[in-house]
Amino acid sequence: MKAWQILVLFLFNISVYGNQITIIGCGYVGLALASILSRNGHTIVCVDIDKEKITSLNNYTLPFYEPNLDDTLFNAARKGTIIFVDDVERVLESEIFYLCVATPTDATGKCDCSLLNSCFNTIISKVDAASKIICIKSTVPPGTMQRLQALIKEKKHSIHLVYNPEFLREGSALQDIMNNPIVIGGESTQAIEKIADLYSNFQTYRIIKTNFETAEILKYAWNSFSAMRITYINELAVLCRKFNADIATVTQGLALSECLLPTAAIKPGPGYGGSCLPKDAAAFAKVMEEQGFSSSIIHQVITSNNNHRKRLISDVCALLGKSEYQKVVTILGLAFKAHTNDIRNSPAIDLIKALIERGIIVKVYDPQAMNSMKELFAHIHYCNSPYQAVQGADCIVVLTDWDEFKEIDFDKIAVLCNKKIIVDTKNIYNPELLKKYNFTLYNYGKH
Ligand code: NAD
Repeated sequence: MKAWQILVLFLFNISVYGNQITIIGCGYVGLALASILSRNGHTIVCVDIDKEKITSLNNYTLPFYEPNLDDTLFNAARKGTIIFVDDVERVLESEIFYLCVATPTDATGKCDCSLLNSCFNTIISKVDAASKIICIKSTVPPGTMQRLQALIKEKKHSIHLVYNPEFLREGSALQDIMNNPIVIGGESTQAIEKIADLYSNFQTYRIIKTNFETAEILKYAWNSFSAMRITYINELAVLCRKFNADIATVTQGLALSECLLPTAAIKPGPGYGGSCLPKDAAAFAKVMEEQGFSSSIIHQVITSNNNHRKRLISDVCALLGKSEYQKVVTILGLAFKAHTNDIRNSPAIDLIKALIERGIIVKVYDPQAMNSMKELFAHIHYCNSPYQAVQGADCIVVLTDWDEFKEIDFDKIAVLCNKKIIVDTKNIYNPELLKKYNFTLYNYGKH
């Protein structure tokens, strides 16, 4: 760092330029972040252990190619509102510490957090104040943030911790960082709000404030979803070539499918069923196979759906305990979804079969699909209402989201059933409400 830069940093510290922020890791994420935060009036200190990189940056040369980044970054550096140093110890007075170091894949395929751990330990060994925040930008696997939070608690430190994963893409880093949705996970509302404030003037300010684990899963889910979509398009492109179809039109059409089935409207459940998805996915997988895709994405989707259904069966049996024989399971919802009586490929069929095989007594109710199911299973107990169905139940399994099930009266249910266990595959029940009734609620990731 040049002497004049230190002087400028000192003179323009916090009072003039908002926060002083330390960004550790001068890669794509760290430098793009530095650039936009300096534009927002903050004083930024960028730290990297790679001395060559720091020398290059101090000579106003980007160590990698990223469109438009050099202009904004080095304009700020020339004004002295961004400085580059190679020693974190010299910038511990900052209020906010962003950690943007690499988290690569180790030899076993797991995420290697060793660089992140080392920076984090350096900071918490030197800094402790309730006004300070460590904000992790590096991508980390679920559970990491709680592990780091535990280290802070162990030291009885009051520094705050948040996770603010980055979604930028190389090649459009600056544009993305300002336009992408912002996700902030943490336990301290004060720290989450402070980090959110730093971005509040972004043009498209869409923000998700949540807990550590949801933010961690969301980041991995986002990238894996992108990987999945790209791979699917690649498989489709090869198929289009073979059949003389046009991949551009196919992808355009796929984009329109968001109007019919928006991702945000997809709720978890016991696995897809019905007359179309299973049949057409199976046929399409066969077409793929004939064209040389021995394990296409669609094959994997079918396997995953089958595994999901099997998992439901083993979860229900596990909840019944060791002596499951002659226990009573109530199934609410027999069709493959609500608002139909179509039972083709319904998850209820697999579940009923499996329960009967284990000698479990099955009681069922569906507002529309009872007659269809009677043709398949004559000897299970068909009931006239959800209340009749749950009488004596050791476990209630809800497979579809009819309003009748959503609006069920728990005062009644709580006294009618034998054991207070509900498997809510459609996440229709409020966990807090069921806690009040002392129900054990097994749902799919709703808190
Ligand atoms: P990068 O490899 O380009 O840069 C990381 C920098 O951290 C390097 O310059 C390295 O020298 C430095 N570093 C390592 N240990 C250090 C230490 N102890 N102290 C100071 N500096 C240290 O990484 P990147 O591409 O910017 O990615 C950073 C994180 O953000 C990763 O977790 C990555 O998965 C995630 N991410 C990357 C992108 C992307 O497109 N590159 C997008 C979103 C999220």
